[in-house]
Amino acid sequence: MSQKIVAVKGMNDLLPGEIEIWQHVERLTRELFGRFGYSEIRTPIVEDTSLFVRSVGEETDIVGKEMYTFDDKAGRSLSLRPEGTAPAARAYIEHSVLNQEPLTRWYYMGPMFRYERMKTGRYRQFYQIGAEAYGAKEAAQDVEVMDMVTQFLQALGLQDITLNLNSLGDEACRPAYYEKLVEYLKAHREELCGDCHRRLETNPLRVLDCKNEACQAVAAKGPSVLEFLCEPCRDHFDDVQRKLTALGVRFVVNPRMVRGLDYYTRTVFEFVASHPALGTASTVGGGGRYDKLVKSLGGPDVPAVGFACGVDRLVLLLKESQQKFAATPDLFIAVADADSQDAAFTLASRLRREGLRVDFDTRGGSLRSQMKRSDKSGAAFTLVLGGQEFTSGQAKLKRMAGGEPIPVALDDIARTVRAQSGAPQVAPAAT
Ligand code: ATP
Ligand code: MG
Repeated sequence: MSQKIVAVKGMNDLLPGEIEIWQHVERLTRELFGRFGYSEIRTPIVEDTSLFVRSVGEETDIVGKEMYTFDDKAGRSLSLRPEGTAPAARAYIEHSVLNQEPLTRWYYMGPMFRYERMKTGRYRQFYQIGAEAYGAKEAAQDVEVMDMVTQFLQALGLQDITLNLNSLGDEACRPAYYEKLVEYLKAHREELCGDCHRRLETNPLRVLDCKNEACQAVAAKGPSVLEFLCEPCRDHFDDVQRKLTALGVRFVVNPRMVRGLDYYTRTVFEFVASHPALGTASTVGGGGRYDKLVKSLGGPDVPAVGFACGVDRLVLLLKESQQKFAATPDLFIAVADADSQDAAFTLASRLRREGLRVDFDTRGGSLRSQMKRSDKSGAAFTLVLGGQEFTSGQAKLKRMAGGEPIPVALDDIARTVRAQSGAPQVAPAAT
């Protein structure tokens, strides 16, 4: 026997039963983000490796150890995208979008790749939904993005998710904080993990983001970045909080939260769930302001703010909720005798053209096995058709939830099913 081939470790198949939840999340994204004036973009899965090295930062976990990097046949170093902000910024610059409009709102959804140690809610191919707003330096833009994520999570019916908020300052005030932080971390060097010894030299802020418990304990007692904010950064942070409060968006200020990427300035935020289904992977999304990123990638000096949510983690939470996502057939057509199979098949096709969701067993088979299938399909109605029905043009519509059968003319099925299920009458698709 030849050996079975299985999916790559950390990369999941999404199959019916679960995919309906993903489709629901994606539908809601398009609907809700559209209401906020965001348009979808799709960028390639693969980018020049240097894009991520220059933007995400060499000393981050993502670039330091999680990227899928390879040389193509011409010897270019390429990487599977580990996140969506850098590719969006690259596209924004490449298409000179600023010349066309001063304020741009984009969103994206799709797979991201990170070579991580897998566990619940942590995979090597995972999916993000994210948004970026370019052109506004005002606090209102930060707040619009956080409001949009909040409304998104609420519309999904997810509760017990806390918005953590912080400010990392800017190039004017961060150096003083850095200095104090390094001084403090060096004094506690012995308590830090090996990775953090290296981070201490190359990128001390990353120590605050370490998942190691001992490092987190050290970080918790360190200096607070908020005490170092310069006046403009302080004003911006106050303005963000005032506006969030005015919109009724609840948040907590968490001065130790820094996020895992290097490009943030001022506002950073994270949405953290408390549900046990996520284990340690409790952050469902995060983002912040990155006013210097576009320029550092060779683009115009344009401020920006964005976020990304992990769809896999949202789906884990939605699976725990009691919501139903799968769409069931409106009608199951069962065939009473083999001679009627073709006529019933033709009728099923016509009803689908008229907009009904119809299940039909193309294998034929006994009426009993078809009725079993109908039960299992969750169809709202079943129609049993045989020679008698096709001759008379009349049949009986059986409501699967119970009740008297409903007489129906064969040329009036779609309208009757809709009327009986209380669904709005929709125009049939053009033929
Ligand atoms: P974490 O701290 O959980 O590693 P992160 O800070 O690396 O997250 P971001 O780069 O901010 O994550 O990505 C935004 C969101 O994408 C995360 O909040 C999470 O929901 C999701 N995410 C990140 N990495 C993974 C992964 N390997 N598997 C599944 N989801 C992920
Ligand atoms: Mg991570």
